[in-house]
Amino acid sequence: MARAFDEDRAYRFGTRAIHAGQRPEPLAGAVMTPIYQTSTYVQEGVGRNKGFVYARTRNPTRDALERNLAALEGAAHGFAFGSGLAAVDAVMKLLSAGDHVVCGRNVYGGTFRMMDLIYRRLGVDFTFVDTRDLAAVAAAVTAKTKLLYVETPTNPMMHLADLRACAELASERGLILTVDNTFATPYFQRPLELGAHIVLHSTTKYLNGHSDMVGGLIATSRDDLAEHFAFIQNSSGAIAGPFDCWLALRGLKTLHVRMRQHDAAGRKIAGWLAQQPAALEVLYPGLPSHPQHELACRQMCGFGGMVSVRLRSPAAARRFAERTRLFALAESLGGVESLITHPATMTHASVPPEMRQAMGLTDDLVRLSVGLEDPDDLIADLEQALAAGADA
Ligand SMILES: *Cc1c(COP(=O)(O)O)cnc(C)c1O
Repeated sequence: MARAFDEDRAYRFGTRAIHAGQRPEPLAGAVMTPIYQTSTYVQEGVGRNKGFVYARTRNPTRDALERNLAALEGAAHGFAFGSGLAAVDAVMKLLSAGDHVVCGRNVYGGTFRMMDLIYRRLGVDFTFVDTRDLAAVAAAVTAKTKLLYVETPTNPMMHLADLRACAELASERGLILTVDNTFATPYFQRPLELGAHIVLHSTTKYLNGHSDMVGGLIATSRDDLAEHFAFIQNSSGAIAGPFDCWLALRGLKTLHVRMRQHDAAGRKIAGWLAQQPAALEVLYPGLPSHPQHELACRQMCGFGGMVSVRLRSPAAARRFAERTRLFALAESLGGVESLITHPATMTHASVPPEMRQAMGLTDDLVRLSVGLEDPDDLIADLEQALAAGADA
């Protein structure tokens, strides 16, 4: 009855996505994990309990989600947080004043802001580098470096970092390699298998996949790091609530099916855009024209639904972003519905202009999160928006 977690890991991805970490509920045999909406648990006697004492420390719905994500990332341990940034914050709390971090310069804007405005003030030092360039990453490591933090593919530039090479550098220099795997998801890329120590996610995006909650997850196989994250969940308290855990668990059951369709539609739309004269450059790791396409094929087994496109001018980019009908103009990504974003003024407005310039995040760039609508309807929508933009 109570299936062991290790047993779940022997199954293939889709089977694990649906079953891993979940057990038939003992009271009525409910097939779906209930929402344990409680703050505390009755104890059997003084010092005797079922392993649950207070819901900040542990909750059965959260346990199921944490075991499920761990099984998908091939990890021994999982930890759910109240947002992706709360998960990043739990990683930052591994550091002390005087420590140094090497971080990708095109990481999520909120991650950069936390490092730059909060942890720098607390005495942690950061160097932001182009993680496409391993020599630059290696050159930034000092005797004080504790953590190497990368995203791949990056948002919205679709730059890749060679995870196996980063893991080799981390092991040579004794660094903890943390990978934000939000864009690729474990369906297309499993950083722990390539040597990373910590994987983190904004569950808000593809893992939940329905744009109806905010959450974060961490997976690791290192027992010492797992101990730290359990301590931080309980001591800092930025845990995910039971209802949000239940939503994410429900979303994860279809991750493999959704990602296959995001990927098929992403490839089709990227290929179509690449043929449009109005599109100066299409950034998508699945296109042979992507400068790191070969690396993408090596470390990912699919490319997903995130596509960035450079138009002829900042004005053309704005017009395009404002004239789609199916693609909604909104921040965030990874849901069933298609979204369009103007990163320079929306998601990345908090990144200093000179840093945006350095990474190529210019005002003529638009980012698409390709959803699960019919791809031909999506292409027709982009076509009318491009035509309207050209007329203006
Ligand atoms: C959204 C996002 C985050 C932050 O997650 P929240 O759930 O919004 O706190 C971190 N990394 C990436 C790549 C993201 O897209």
